[in-house]
Amino acid sequence: PDAPTPEASPEKADVALPHGATPGIRFEKVVKHFGDNVVLRELDFTVEPGERVTLIGPSGSGKTTILRLLMTLEKVNGGTIFVGDTPLSHMDRGGKLVPANEKHLHEMRKQIGMVFQQFNLFPNMNVLRNLIEGPVRVLGLSKDEAVERARGLLDMVGLADKIDAHPSQLSGGQQQRVAIARALAMQPKVLLLDEVTSALDPELVVGVQDLLRDIARESDLTLLCVTHEMHFARDISNRVLMFDKGQIVEEGPPEQIFGEPTEQRTKDFLQAVL
Ligand code: ADP
Repeated sequence: PDAPTPEASPEKADVALPHGATPGIRFEKVVKHFGDNVVLRELDFTVEPGERVTLIGPSGSGKTTILRLLMTLEKVNGGTIFVGDTPLSHMDRGGKLVPANEKHLHEMRKQIGMVFQQFNLFPNMNVLRNLIEGPVRVLGLSKDEAVERARGLLDMVGLADKIDAHPSQLSGGQQQRVAIARALAMQPKVLLLDEVTSALDPELVVGVQDLLRDIARESDLTLLCVTHEMHFARDISNRVLMFDKGQIVEEGPPEQIFGEPTEQRTKDFLQAVL
């Protein structure tokens, strides 16, 4: 089990991964509710450029909502989210929420990649097309450039031989590797991971986690990860935020949160999941 996974070797990762300046993320007094259900209450937190942060905490505490807000799949009800220096919205004088203009949002979205629990590959496209669609349409790469990038990434995730396969012909673990490669094909600066191994058969979990750990460590990506797998959180992050009822209960390096948590809610949560 200690043998290095060949598909995720740092040398290969180094070639295919995005490098260079990455923006951080900042939540300032962010409020989000769904009807009467207040999910985030004036939430403040920052992820520094290149930092790798994992959100842990009970189900329903608002972790996925944070990622969805960043992807602009949801809108805040108050406060401001910044990606780098760009606010995703602001309040006008009347206290009404105004989203950033679409051009800014488009530029910002290009910087953020997300990998979902359910892979979300395009089912009607083969692996190659899944990987080149975004780079060609959104980034304006030539098809040749996009194909070359796709090949490099498939090599890195250990699926070079599946380039013509359709998602339905792949195992869950393979689909998730393709989804990871697809996210990276857009050369994001920020990578969001939402419970990326929850839908996988148990024997496939470690391979995908090891791949992501190597990618995270070998790149300059800013990472925000939501997971119920505490050893993965420990492995992948520099900092862990323990979250409950829309607020941060406790935060610190993984050794501290998992080794010597100070808050009772953290202790109870860890006892329940470990
Ligand atoms: P977590 O990821 O920590 O499990 P979520 O962010 O998924 O938590 O959910 C937080 C709360 O927001 C839950 O009470 C959930 O029911 C609610 N919620 C999330 N998305 C929606 C939505 N689209 N409509 C209504 N309620 C939602």
